[in-house]
Amino acid sequence: MKCGNGIEARQVNELFINIDPIQAGGRLTGDAIKAIIAYGDGYSVCDNCRKPNRLDCISKPPIAEFHRDVAAWLGMDAARMMPGARRGFQAVAHTYVEKGDPVLLTSLSHYTEFLAVEEAGGVACEIPVDEQHIVTPDATAAKIDEVKQKFGKAPVLAFIDHVDYQYGNLHDVAAIAKVAHGYDVPVLCNGAYTVGTMPVDGKALGVDFVVGSGHKSMAAPAPSGVLATTAERATEVFRTTSIEGDVTKRRFGLKEPELMGCTLMGATLVGMMASFPHVKERVKHFDRELENNRIVMEALLSIEGTKVLSEYPRKHTLTRVDTTGSFDRVAGTHKKKGFFFSSALSEKGIFGIIPGATRVWKFNTYGMTAKQARYLADAFVAVARENELPVLP
Ligand SMILES: *Cc1c(COP(=O)(O)O)cnc(C)c1O
Repeated sequence: MKCGNGIEARQVNELFINIDPIQAGGRLTGDAIKAIIAYGDGYSVCDNCRKPNRLDCISKPPIAEFHRDVAAWLGMDAARMMPGARRGFQAVAHTYVEKGDPVLLTSLSHYTEFLAVEEAGGVACEIPVDEQHIVTPDATAAKIDEVKQKFGKAPVLAFIDHVDYQYGNLHDVAAIAKVAHGYDVPVLCNGAYTVGTMPVDGKALGVDFVVGSGHKSMAAPAPSGVLATTAERATEVFRTTSIEGDVTKRRFGLKEPELMGCTLMGATLVGMMASFPHVKERVKHFDRELENNRIVMEALLSIEGTKVLSEYPRKHTLTRVDTTGSFDRVAGTHKKKGFFFSSALSEKGIFGIIPGATRVWKFNTYGMTAKQARYLADAFVAVARENELPVLP
């Protein structure tokens, strides 16, 4: 099937079990797909836009209600939808960071957090992780002290990943935020892998901002995401415009400069909204997701020489493994070299492992059924056996 102009219809999620680390939590629901078709036109959500002429105030479709629901669901007072988590980081960095200001990141921070700091003129100060690849409250305090020594002031902002993209490890954001607040450092919790996959309560975490990614973890089209904050911080990051034209004396009411007025229009926003009831429900069943991950991990670890690099037992479904001692040994002699692995998996209907990767790689079991988890577990073992790798009973 073709979409025209040489574009083939993509059929990955229809034909495969998709364990791509960044795609598993973003796969659309049927309702989101319907919403995309109905609201594909860019300004379609503006049909019933009335004063104060702002996206988050539109009541038909129920966009205003959605904003309130999302804020409450995240334990925060206000929320805005953003074109990706990165645009949430950008809005916050641009509000608080001035040229030369130190900003706290971690040794596992995502590049988009770095770029947000860079664009605001800040200096990246990474909290080092411990041997288990965990960011600790102690390391946070030590880093803030070091920054104070060096810059003569505390960091103006801290970006802390709830679950990092490299290991999928869960970091104690609540304890870290407590330390940072002891130095009056506002804290942004990066929930790109958690908002929409597991319960996230910004109030319980004690953070100033919660950022989520719609297309990574909320079953929403790209680019979409959320920035939620407290009532106090909302007056800063969601401040309204004050600019005035010198000739026309025009002013722009309640438009918010960090959002360039309005953000997600049409399919992205309505797709996100359509998936939201499903997302709210699914986060309550994260235990099942961990159970599926366990089934797959136990199978992988039964293949001699395979190691898990993420914390174990797992607290998230995004997992990093090292198969240098197993699948990579096959790559050395196989005629397809390292591609034998992704190719064998593909033949079994599994998608999402980087073609050619046989040493260190990541996968994400989020959103699969128990039956699919067992199938995936058996598939890994079968690929090992087919290639004469020893498998523990
Ligand atoms: C994917 C990811 C992002 C970027 O999310 P977007 O919504 O694509 O901007 C940021 N941080 C982490 C930890 C991520 O994994």
